[in-house]
Amino acid sequence: MTSSETLRLNRLFSVAVLGATGAVGQRFVKLLSEHPFFQLTCVCASPASVGKRYGDACNWRISSAMPDAIRDLEIVDTTPRDDVQIVFSALGSDIARDVELRWAEKGVSVFSNASAYRMESDVGLIVPEVNPDHFQLVPYQRKRRGFPGSGMIVTNPNCSTTVLALALAPLERQFGLVRVSVVTLQAISGAGYPGMSAMDITGNVVPYIRGEEEKIENETQKILGSLSELGVTPANFLISAQVNRVPVLDGHTESISVELREKPTEAELRKALAEFRAEPQERSLPSAPEHPILLFEGEDRPQPRLDLYRESAMATLVGRIRSCSVLDYKMTLLGHNTVRGAAGGSILNAELAVALGVIG
Ligand code: NAP
Repeated sequence: MTSSETLRLNRLFSVAVLGATGAVGQRFVKLLSEHPFFQLTCVCASPASVGKRYGDACNWRISSAMPDAIRDLEIVDTTPRDDVQIVFSALGSDIARDVELRWAEKGVSVFSNASAYRMESDVGLIVPEVNPDHFQLVPYQRKRRGFPGSGMIVTNPNCSTTVLALALAPLERQFGLVRVSVVTLQAISGAGYPGMSAMDITGNVVPYIRGEEEKIENETQKILGSLSELGVTPANFLISAQVNRVPVLDGHTESISVELREKPTEAELRKALAEFRAEPQERSLPSAPEHPILLFEGEDRPQPRLDLYRESAMATLVGRIRSCSVLDYKMTLLGHNTVRGAAGGSILNAELAVALGVIG
């Protein structure tokens, strides 16, 4: 590590969470409560919560206790503030578009979970193990939009996309993807809190989530695409997604089949997945899982109830790898939708941005 990197990593940044009381916001609060780079000083939510203590306004849905230091913070509105350097956004997309732009225009680095800016040509849609080079869009974005100082908007993908992109990255790089089919079984917490009514989801499967299939298809191709002067050229494999909401609290399961340009043996394919490491691991970033892809051998694993918190819920868990009689190989993926698929992914992006010197 160079001396300037050490200096950067020893700084403590003052951070805000937008939408701090929601399903993703609560994960941010939990993950940021003891973070070595980021100090949570500001929690924002809707007008109905503004002025209340966080502990009173938030219906805490995480099994471990609400962090004491946050309980007494007063919830404020989303107006940009001078005493915040980094913002983590867990707002719905309709609100995020205007609010995130205002923070970036004030010189604040915005790490967003919302879909509002994900597909814009000057905005990085980043999974730090997969496409850290897309941080190179930041100077172009700052110039194009006139963001001062450390102003920028960096997004992380839809929760299902994150889980999928991590597993596909080593396959695309080593063997080349030709076609991908993915069928998801998505947890209730993916719809936010309080989400669907019990009458709609108990004992049921709902084979539709608005806009989700298009997001998985388009975002995956952007993440695995390559940088060009015009932004990102999407990867050119074919991808088809089918999504389902299922009565699971947390954790999205995905059944995927892949066709590969080169034809690896099953052992070669397993090795490519198991040995996948990237920049967050090499830099030992605080939220980086040791194994971004964790392989399971059991014939009925991974399962949300048994396996979801392996690797601190920051990995894509992969099992049931076998040959496919339609494409080449099929397997089961599992990932935590509000941790790796949202707050944890966003925090890892910010850690990498600090390490790379993208945030001044
Ligand atoms: P959620 O549970 O519905 O939470 C929404 C949050 O936004 C709450 O804190 C709410 O505050 C706040 N809010 C609502 N209206 C507001 C306003 N006018 N001004 C300021 N704050 C406002 O939603 P979520 O599931 O956490 O999702 C948040 C974002 O992350 C969405 O864009 C979603 O698509 C994305 N995402 C979600 C997941 C997931 O698994 N859930 C995964 C990846 C990405 P109050 O409590 O005061 O109403």
